[in-house]
Amino acid sequence: MVRKISDILKEKRQTRSFEFFPPKTEKGKIKLFETAGAFAELKPDWFSVTYGAGGSTRGITMEIADEIQKRFNIPVMHHFTCVGHSRSELKAILTEMSKRKIGSILALRGDAPEGEKDWKPAPNGLEYCYQLIELIRSSGVEFSIGVAGFPEGHINCPDKETDSKYLKIKIDSGGEFVITQIFFDNKDYFEYVDRIRKTGVTVPILPGILPITNYQTLLRFCKTCGATIPQKVHDIFRPLDGDAESTYKAGVEFTVRKCRQLLKGGAPGLHFYTLNKLDPTREILSKI
Ligand SMILES: Cc1cc2nc3c(=O)[nH]c(=O)nc-3n(C[C@H](O)[C@H](O)[C@H](O)COP(=O)(O)OP(=O)(O)OC[C@H]3O[C@@H](n4cnc5c(N)ncnc54)[C@H](O)[C@@H]3O)c2cc1C
Repeated sequence: MVRKISDILKEKRQTRSFEFFPPKTEKGKIKLFETAGAFAELKPDWFSVTYGAGGSTRGITMEIADEIQKRFNIPVMHHFTCVGHSRSELKAILTEMSKRKIGSILALRGDAPEGEKDWKPAPNGLEYCYQLIELIRSSGVEFSIGVAGFPEGHINCPDKETDSKYLKIKIDSGGEFVITQIFFDNKDYFEYVDRIRKTGVTVPILPGILPITNYQTLLRFCKTCGATIPQKVHDIFRPLDGDAESTYKAGVEFTVRKCRQLLKGGAPGLHFYTLNKLDPTREILSKI
């Protein structure tokens, strides 16, 4: 019986989980299973596999989630978005997840596919994440459902209070836990938790952690998702730009400090955006 993430969160004080993205090639898949095997030795509470913005990697999410779950006997959460799917397609994918014993879903709206400026729901599709949660809840299968949270507010949301209201709607629709977007100042996370608690939401809010290993990648990432890079982070990593070894070392040090403070401040766990790389996350965990 595959354990659901909401049950794990009820039992454990602090969890650790690792996120992967689906590789595009057969060789990449084989490498990911090896990496997942090494991650399994770190005894994660669950893995998660992202869902591509469109096209080729989407079916692979299910295949990889299923295979990792079977090989390592560790629950895998399937990310799932509304992008490009009609309601009936979404339902069919849920049926397939249920057949493959995938018990936990990170429900997301998703973003407009590359090259398209504005987000548009698919014909007969869904506009917001809360509608996807309602659809999952009406499927008759008791999936455990997580949602995305944005400590600095979602990039397209007018203000943080409105963002909190929308998060509450996702939870009231059936979301059971929150995983946050990346952030680099823990103050943003703690203020977010306070803001969300004031709306009456009590579910666990897990901080999403990105180990910094490359300054240029960090700049690109943050531009896409809207996360602010504080001056102190630029000051550490800009002078090291191009020096892989020093950036790696500084990234580990920075993330260890950050994670310790989060756990001490009561975060219910750490969710690592691993980018399919073992070393930084493994070293960070060994030092916490
Ligand atoms: C942990 C994490 C994992 C992710 N994984 C993936 C992934 O695997 N694949 C992928 O494609 N993307 C992924 N994303 C990105 C995510 O799809 C985008 O950030 C997307 O823009 C927002 O998704 P959402 O589920 O929060 O959408 P929603 O909650 O629907 O919000 C989307 C927009 O609509 C607004 N809104 C929300 N509710 C309402 C409402 N009731 N009325 C009016 N406006 C509303 C919000 O303010 C926001 O601007 C991930 C994000 C995070 C934080």
